[in-house]
Amino acid sequence: MSLLNKHLGVTPVRAFADNYIWLIESPVDAGQVVAIDPGEAEPVLAALKASGKKLAAILLTHHHPDHIGGVAELLAQHPIPVIGPKDVRILQITRAVADGERLELSNLGLNFEILHLPGHTLSHVAFLGHGALFCGDTLFSAGCGRMFEGTPTQMHTSLDRLSLLPPDTRIYCGHEYTAANLKFALTVEPSNSAARDYSAKVNQLRTQALPTLPSSVALETSINPFLRCHEPAVRSAAEARAGRPLREPADVFAVLRAWKDTFQS
Ligand code: ZN
Ligand code: FE
Repeated sequence: MSLLNKHLGVTPVRAFADNYIWLIESPVDAGQVVAIDPGEAEPVLAALKASGKKLAAILLTHHHPDHIGGVAELLAQHPIPVIGPKDVRILQITRAVADGERLELSNLGLNFEILHLPGHTLSHVAFLGHGALFCGDTLFSAGCGRMFEGTPTQMHTSLDRLSLLPPDTRIYCGHEYTAANLKFALTVEPSNSAARDYSAKVNQLRTQALPTLPSSVALETSINPFLRCHEPAVRSAAEARAGRPLREPADVFAVLRAWKDTFQS
C-alpha cells in the first residue's frame, strides 16, 4: 500500500465551544503531528504533552480568530512552518499557498492539494490529500459556513467542487455543528430518509459527547441541502420559502443560505 493511500491518523482537539483543531500524525514518523487551524494554543499544547508528540507544522484554512488565535503562542514554543492562504490578515504565514498547488511536506510524508474555496471568506483554502479533506468553515456536516465575504455564486461553486470529490473522501470540518444543521436540513427536506437516519446516529454520538466527524462526500451529497441545490425537493422548498421560481442551483443556494441565517432550531 502506498503512503498516499494509507489512512491518516487524525485526532480532534476541542477548542472554544465547538471548534475542532485536527492533529494529523505523520505517516512516516508517528512522533510528529501537523495542526490544522489552532484557534487556541493551550489545548494543543496539552494534547502534545499527553501524547509525547512534536508539532511539526501548522496549516491554516482562513483568517478567523477561532482558527488562527493560537498560532503565535504555538510558534513561541515551536518555530515551525505555517502554511495557509495569502492574506494580510494572517501575519504568521511562512508559506502562502494557492489553488491547484501541491503542498509537499516530504519529511513528514504528507502531500496535499490546495483548493481555494471562496465564500465563507474570500481567501479560504482547504487541504486535500491521503483521502481526506480539511475544509475549515466552508463545508460542515449537513451544512456550510456563513457567507461573510463571498457571493452566493462563489460559495455554491466552492461547495460544488467538494461534492465532486471521490465519495469516500473523509471530511474534517472546523466545527461541531452537525446536530443543529440537521434540524435545518430536515426542515428543507423532511422526507430525506438518509438525513433522518443520520440524525438518529448524530443524536446518539452527541449524547455521549463524541464527534460526528469526519463525514464523507457520499454522506454529505445525500443529506446536506447545500450540496443538493439541484434536487427537485430542495429546489421546491427554496421556491416556497422565496415565493418565486428559482432557475439556477446557485439561486437555490442563496435562498437556503439566507433562510438558515435566521433559522431557529
Ligand atoms: Zn470562520
Ligand atoms: Fe470558525
